[in-house]
Amino acid sequence: MALVNENYCNLKESYLFADIAKKVSAYAKEHPEKKIIRLGIGDVTRPLAACVVKAMEKAVAEMGVQDTFRGYGPEQGYGFLHDAIVKYYASFGVALESNEIFISDGAKSDCGNITDIFSNANTILIPDPVYPVYLDTNVMCGRKIIYMEGKPENNFLPMPDENVHADVIYLCSPNNPTGAVYTKEQLEKWVAYALKNDAVILYDAAYEAFVVDPAIPRSIFTVEGAKKCAIELCSLSKTAGFTGTRCGYTVVPQALVRKTAAGQEMSLNKMWLRRQTTKFNGVPYIIQRGAEAVFSEEGIAQCRANIAYYQENARIMMAGFDKLGIKYFGGVHSPYIWLQCPQGMTSWEFFDYLLENMAVVGTPGAGFGTMGEGYFRLTAFGSRENTIEAMDRIVAGLKNL
Ligand SMILES: *Cc1c(COP(=O)(O)O)cnc(C)c1O
Repeated sequence: MALVNENYCNLKESYLFADIAKKVSAYAKEHPEKKIIRLGIGDVTRPLAACVVKAMEKAVAEMGVQDTFRGYGPEQGYGFLHDAIVKYYASFGVALESNEIFISDGAKSDCGNITDIFSNANTILIPDPVYPVYLDTNVMCGRKIIYMEGKPENNFLPMPDENVHADVIYLCSPNNPTGAVYTKEQLEKWVAYALKNDAVILYDAAYEAFVVDPAIPRSIFTVEGAKKCAIELCSLSKTAGFTGTRCGYTVVPQALVRKTAAGQEMSLNKMWLRRQTTKFNGVPYIIQRGAEAVFSEEGIAQCRANIAYYQENARIMMAGFDKLGIKYFGGVHSPYIWLQCPQGMTSWEFFDYLLENMAVVGTPGAGFGTMGEGYFRLTAFGSRENTIEAMDRIVAGLKNL
């Protein structure tokens, strides 16, 4: 008899986006005259950079010619893309070796797959609120999960607790959903904690390109000692508009070594290579050529222009909430504004209030964890026109609340 993985019984059904869609479509049916503005989406809207499209077109043409056709590529990615990423990291002061970089179809896959190289006996430390993938992928393995609370008192940036032991720690900075970002001093404390506990930090840097202050780390590897205790998950999704194109990369340092229960030392880099070569056949050549172009001088400039567009949206939103005196987090180094629901409303009460009175859609904070209750996420990924209109409606609608 084939038994199923019973850990799946422990997954909480996520109705968040389905419930939002249901409420929005009911409202749309009742009010066909209203223009609904969606600021709940966690997806980009700006098109790919021109040089990225050009690089992919060239690669497509190569695939149709005998001499330049390519079949299976290296599972961990092509050398040309490793080289481009090595150069990119050097630009913010991090020296990497090519074989420390693994190209993938995105950070979500890597985030889920990386659980393969860790024992199910580990205790997993996860922030609350946070990107739900960290929790669900570990529930699927039946692991013990402990939480650290993000709250206004710590600016939604939980710090290590010396009295709590964890083996694997998830950090996301700039954070989804709160937009909060760790300083170098704070990351130094996390690295010290991880080294002391022989733990590994899984550092999600999906939003690194949104960091505007050069003093704020774009990579955990800017912190000394991090190569002995961290894996970094990166994505071109938010930084270069690759949500539909699919490309990311994970950095597993050569220096990262941990033991089996019996005490045998293992290289996590070698284990991840083995995992990827066994279960993955690489990202399409065409996509990797597009990704290479993202890291060219021209590509960085063109992607920066798109990010600047979203950042201007975030500024417009922050100005509106400043005017209203509503407290929020994020928005500066992140496309997310995490605001405190006014008048003590719950996340869903505020969702309904915003939809029914202003025809604006956001995401209730409670959908990202218990600590998200009373908070609300708006994103800067909309169009300029819609962002301005939504904020005009919000300012007018909440002014006299
Ligand atoms: C969007 C996002 C990712 C990126 O996922 P991809 O699979 O690369 O598209 C990773 N982590 C967080 C926190 C995100 O919000």
